[in-house]
Amino acid sequence: MVIKMKTIIQKIDATNMASSDFKEAAELLRNGKLVAFPTETVYGLGGNAYDSTASARIYAAKGRPSDNPLIVHISCFDEILPLVEAVPQNARVLADRFWPGPLTMILNKSDRIPKETTGGLDTVAIRMPSHPIANRLIKEAGIPIAAPSANASGRPSTTKAEHVIEDLDGRIDMIIDGGSSDIGLESTIVDLTVEPALILRPGYITIEMLREVIPDIEYDKAVLKRMRDDSIVAKAPGMKYRHYAPKGELTIFEGDTDAVSKAIGKAAEEKLRSGYSVGILTSDELAGSYEDLKKYVTEGKKPHENGALYIKDIGSRENEAEIAAGLFDALRYFDEVGAEFIYAEAFNDGGLGQAIMNRLMKAAGYHVITL
Ligand code: AMP
Ligand code: MG
Repeated sequence: MVIKMKTIIQKIDATNMASSDFKEAAELLRNGKLVAFPTETVYGLGGNAYDSTASARIYAAKGRPSDNPLIVHISCFDEILPLVEAVPQNARVLADRFWPGPLTMILNKSDRIPKETTGGLDTVAIRMPSHPIANRLIKEAGIPIAAPSANASGRPSTTKAEHVIEDLDGRIDMIIDGGSSDIGLESTIVDLTVEPALILRPGYITIEMLREVIPDIEYDKAVLKRMRDDSIVAKAPGMKYRHYAPKGELTIFEGDTDAVSKAIGKAAEEKLRSGYSVGILTSDELAGSYEDLKKYVTEGKKPHENGALYIKDIGSRENEAEIAAGLFDALRYFDEVGAEFIYAEAFNDGGLGQAIMNRLMKAAGYHVITL
């Protein structure tokens, strides 16, 4: 059992920050303590990447399996040098183009990085975030910061300080509240230790963008799998775990949008009639199709025997950035209201849609109904 500690919550305004805002956080990090902080992708749970006990604390606070490696965050390119065996040309090219930003590179690690930080691997994941608070925190701490997403293991990643408080209050030393993460999905991960380079996790930096600088880059097979197929082993260890999963049973409906909204409406009505709480994850385009179910719509939490419907519209299907930014918040919302069954429309899977569908499919345990 983890002993409850007092978690300091510190608000920082990214547009008006001073060195003094970071004094306590930087000191905590240097002393092996844990600080959650905002990045442009999701919130990270940071600890000193050189300190194996700090890494062990991160695993304990999240309840994360210790073979699931952390990403090491740096604030400028030169900070990569002590972390890796060598810097391949591709890493320089990618850094030039996409750092600071939502791209993580896997490289062969140096001896300075303890295996506790890399989940026992000889490789290390490195990212330079663009969020001004993240960047400043790393600089002020003066050490590379190991940070996975700041959520309890298995839950959706956190995109606001409130989410982090929900999952980690009393388990870590400090949470820096810097508002919402712009992107809302975790970084794209690229493995540069293999030829050709492989995308281990899709994210905001798409394969099309990466191919402009590394033309032969491919997806790792595990990224493209649609079904639970145990013969395909994920190279990014985190990708093999149940992830982002809401407590309710999530089903994705894909196909022609008319057919999708009809099928979701029908499935929802059946469950509502039997008294279950139901969530519908939808878009501006389809949100209007559930008018018939309006009588079930509920504000706030309701005992489930009443059959309550919660509809979450996360934006236009045409605006993938908006869908990405709202996805994890929506999944957390369904937990909060106690939705027992959740029905989601599938989103298009080109560009950023690849990352959106990757997270949604994991959340659904690959449970998809094709119409
Ligand atoms: P999170 O930031 O919580 O998504 O966790 C970081 C993720 O990065 C892990 O779950 C892994 O999937 C991935 N990762 C970190 N280090 C490595 C590595 N050395 N090789 C492959 N994948 C990695
Ligand atoms: Mg994570």
